[in-house]
Amino acid sequence: MICKLCDKIYSESLSFKTLFQIRILCPECLMQYEPTYTYEVIPIERGIIEYHSVFMIEDNDPKKKRILYRFMKSYFKALMSDYLNEGLTLLIEDTEYTNFPQWFPIIKGLSPLRFYSLFYYDWSNYEDSVWF
Ligand SMILES: [Zn+2]
Repeated sequence: MICKLCDKIYSESLSFKTLFQIRILCPECLMQYEPTYTYEVIPIERGIIEYHSVFMIEDNDPKKKRILYRFMKSYFKALMSDYLNEGLTLLIEDTEYTNFPQWFPIIKGLSPLRFYSLFYYDWSNYEDSVWF
């Protein structure tokens, strides 16, 4: 088989049990891109932000990002079952993170806020003046 991330050829034994659950990543990529599923609560003025991320590493290769988004499946399932709740849910990527001080003051009155990202972003880089 060919790994979808690194294009390396690898072998895997198949059985009736695994016939329809074929892994798309080689063993090396599975170890390198093991999901960590972090969760943080960030206090803001009149509320909180629940921040979820899948990986502690960062990789800006668009092809890899596209493949790795499948690890957010559990988040999307939770969102689909929880979509009627109040608040705002945002998918954060590099653009949103770098421009955060510009758009966040507009939405910070909404609560609860939920941020989801594929790769972890360190929100402590931003000053308290942005949060409050
Ligand atoms: Zn690989």
